[in-house]
Amino acid sequence: MAAYAALKAGASVLVLEKAPTFSARGADITAIGSRLHKEVGIALDPNKILHDYMKVQGGRLHQWIYWLWARNSGRVMDMAIDFIESKGLKPYLVIPARDEPVIIDKWPVPSGAPEGWHPNLEYTYEYPTCHRLGGPTAGTRVWLGELEKHLRREGVRIMYNTQVVRILRRGKGKVESVIAKTYAGGFIKARANKGIVLATGDYSANREMVDHYFPLKHIQLGKCPTSTGEGHQMAIWIGAQMERTPHAPLMDMTHVMGTNAFLFVNRFGKRFCNEDLDTEAMARQAEEQGGTWVVFDASWPEDVPRMGLGFYRIYKDSPKTHQVLSERIAQGSVVTADTIIGLANKMQVPIDAFVETIARYNYLVAKGIDEDFGKQPSRLTAIDKAPFYAGWCPLANDPLVIFAGLVANDRLQPIQTDGEPIEGLYLAGNTVGGRFKQAYPLLCPGVSHGQAMTLGYLAGEFASGKC
Ligand SMILES: Cc1cc2nc3c(=O)[nH]c(=O)nc-3n(C[C@H](O)[C@H](O)[C@H](O)COP(=O)(O)OP(=O)(O)OC[C@H]3O[C@@H](n4cnc5c(N)ncnc54)[C@H](O)[C@@H]3O)c2cc1C
Repeated sequence: MAAYAALKAGASVLVLEKAPTFSARGADITAIGSRLHKEVGIALDPNKILHDYMKVQGGRLHQWIYWLWARNSGRVMDMAIDFIESKGLKPYLVIPARDEPVIIDKWPVPSGAPEGWHPNLEYTYEYPTCHRLGGPTAGTRVWLGELEKHLRREGVRIMYNTQVVRILRRGKGKVESVIAKTYAGGFIKARANKGIVLATGDYSANREMVDHYFPLKHIQLGKCPTSTGEGHQMAIWIGAQMERTPHAPLMDMTHVMGTNAFLFVNRFGKRFCNEDLDTEAMARQAEEQGGTWVVFDASWPEDVPRMGLGFYRIYKDSPKTHQVLSERIAQGSVVTADTIIGLANKMQVPIDAFVETIARYNYLVAKGIDEDFGKQPSRLTAIDKAPFYAGWCPLANDPLVIFAGLVANDRLQPIQTDGEPIEGLYLAGNTVGGRFKQAYPLLCPGVSHGQAMTLGYLAGEFASGKC
């Protein structure tokens, strides 16, 4: 998006990317106040959303960065929408349920929502901010592929397999050039008259950085091999500062039944929480227990429509869930048995404790009140119809990415310890600090892409001198 913005501002643009192609993953992109919101009559309050983020992140966010995003995200999303529509693709506002998203055609209850569902009944309120560009299930590769073609056609030079290794700065002067290593093994020096945008992602694949910032957590390396934190390091070498800890690993969790609130049982055969959790909280609960089992029975197809709607929820019996279940049984991460004792044996949990847990849970279901952990009555589902199933959810300690960036001002320039910006350099995506602390809460699904898109666009505008 930085290249797109700079191009629109009339700059000539060079993109240096160390991988053989552009990075694209996931599908969800948050925006606040896009054209799609207006079309269905949704008016979101960014102030309220900020305060929710502040509350769940220990009050540590850099509010000027948040506001830069929130004020501009509708405008930038509208531009992306106009762009994909010009390519014959359609944008959607969705609730990103697992098997089939629910398209938000009206609010608060979209036509495709399960009967009786209302967002205010969810313990974790998910704001209706999730956009998908190019189709209700389209991944970001769809629209980024179009964007890449467009940039090339309009004269942007994109050099893949070209790794930036140094940002050059003389003393405290303006940054004007970088050194990059090419695929052939040579080096080039690229000079920018107007500005340089650093959009090198996060550091989750850098063992030394992960161990340094999470010394006691034994976090595994992230899933994106390109996330090596080089951009952070190069900027720090010329005076930028890493934001304070705690940094925020994206280590969420889903299970064989998505994020549905089926019974959780720990390694000791005991229930330990209200299972009606979002992905982040689910992962942290499982982490506290060293992993968890999710337990359900043959009635799951009738149970799922009562389990709410939201990120990765399963709200109807679908062929995909049957398929996922069969695959996991075949892989061994889901065990199944015709008796509770047989299931306990396969789970290798203490039989007496597990039998007692199931009896107690079924008692609470029959009573319709979760006296132990307060789960909503509609989400209490008995474990009494064979075959019984248990899916193992291991400790979630493998981040998708780690959110931690450089301290930036409201023009997305990195700030030195003396408070002065590094002129000529601008940050975008996960190099921007102050956005998430400790956790990646599920308030606005797709907020990472949403921020990368908007802040990337703004960084391109700032760097090209448009504003
Ligand atoms: C499987 C998966 C699914 C996800 N799904 C979602 C989702 O649906 N919604 C959401 O909001 N978030 C999602 N995320 C998180 C989100 O994708 C990232 O946080 C976001 O893409 C970060 O964007 P970025 O531009 O900062 O970094 P990246 O997308 O990682 O891009 C950085 C680029 O810089 C390149 N680079 C790095 N160093 C150099 C160098 N020295 N020289 C040249 N190039 C370099 C890298 O190769 C990379 O292509 C997902 C993450 C994963 C792993």
